[in-house]
Amino acid sequence: MRAADVASKPKDNPWEMALRQFHRAADLLPLKRGIREFLVQPHRELTVNFPIHMDNGAVKVFTGYRVHHSTVLGPTKGGIRYNLHVDLDEVRALAMWMTWKCALMHLPYGGAKGGVTCDPSSLSKSELERLTRRYATEISVIIGPDRDIPAPDVGTNEQIMAWIMDTLSMHAGHSMPAVVTGKPISIGGSAGRREATGRGVMIIAREAAKTRGLAFSGSRVVVQGFGNVGSVAAYLMHDQGCNAFAVSDVQGGIYNADVVDPRAVLDYVEETGGVAGFPGSNSVSNEELLELPCDFLVPAAIEGQITGENAARIKAKIIVEGANGPTTPDADEILQERGVLVVPDILANAGGVIVSYFEWVQDLASFFWSEAEINERLERIMEQSFAGVAALAKEQEIDLRTSALLFAVRRVADALMTRGIYP
Ligand code: NAD
Repeated sequence: MRAADVASKPKDNPWEMALRQFHRAADLLPLKRGIREFLVQPHRELTVNFPIHMDNGAVKVFTGYRVHHSTVLGPTKGGIRYNLHVDLDEVRALAMWMTWKCALMHLPYGGAKGGVTCDPSSLSKSELERLTRRYATEISVIIGPDRDIPAPDVGTNEQIMAWIMDTLSMHAGHSMPAVVTGKPISIGGSAGRREATGRGVMIIAREAAKTRGLAFSGSRVVVQGFGNVGSVAAYLMHDQGCNAFAVSDVQGGIYNADVVDPRAVLDYVEETGGVAGFPGSNSVSNEELLELPCDFLVPAAIEGQITGENAARIKAKIIVEGANGPTTPDADEILQERGVLVVPDILANAGGVIVSYFEWVQDLASFFWSEAEINERLERIMEQSFAGVAALAKEQEIDLRTSALLFAVRRVADALMTRGIYP
């Protein structure tokens, strides 16, 4: 394992975090004991060990997972992560968060997640393709357009979705675009999907600013993680007049006392592979970056970054969770006491799964929408969801995470009772 990967491993167990968050909300709901016991468990979990021919002739065995947390509201939906610290507990937590996110957003999906324990940056393109096609084949017993629809997450991208779509299509003997979302547009992907999660983060940050009487234009923004979510959130907030002045990736961060232009940083990352050394910037560690004084902190990397240990030193006014699970329950309590507004992942980063849903609907109908239609529908859903969650939080004097979870858990529990317990 490289030093950077060891450093990036979350210290708090994500599954324990997800359980604590769930129980906190469930305590406020009149849930029957058995229903609560069912909702807290993953519905099904698949672990696969499979061999891959490496370019040097060796055979290497990889471990992958696919977890369906809930199938109550519809087929399951959730990303696939390629990372060295992927394990079953992380995949379980991410699957459970997907259940709540889809329910909160009124999407007809349950939650799922998948991953392969690997360092994609150490694999050649052909090794990555063989690994992806084999993993897709291994999990093909539980995925499909009406069963479970994967999407990209940390370490995976449009190309990997294209290989999964092609693999499943070859098995079926016909093209199956609706089997994954986040695909290239040329094979049934949706306009606006690549930017959707970051766009949603920008919209939610703007709505959150209103509740705090904070001017959005001119606000100061720090972004941890400069991948799909973080980079898009940074440049779309920049477009709205916000000043992103510090950003980071797994190797470390950069800041400029005034502003860094996120699009220029993206061009630089394309050339060099990382944000470090961006001209005119100073370097900052990921730990220091989280504690910089700012209006918005957007954690957009991995779980467990804002913890009981550093929460008291966070100086942001508003935290908008681009990543899944970046704030631990201990940190939540400290931030709540200190009056820092935390907009939870299941609300703040839901833009990705909303446009993934649009992509799936378009694929099933073979009828495609314009980017303007996609963005307008996304914006409306994000604004309405934020307003609902904020109103319930105010009414019940609870934090936004608990409020969002109340909506979500209640919806899944109600649907389960309405369907009835089989047989
Ligand atoms: P990505 O692989 O495109 O980017 C991840 C970024 O985080 C990279 O810049 C990487 O270098 C950086 N990173 C990793 N570990 C880090 C650390 N310890 N400190 C700082 N930076 C670190 O992944 P992504 O798709 O942008 O996903 C980021 C987060 O957003 C994840 O939590 C993911 O689950 C969540 N998310 C993604 C989507 C989506 O549509 N891609 C949707 C919802 C939520």
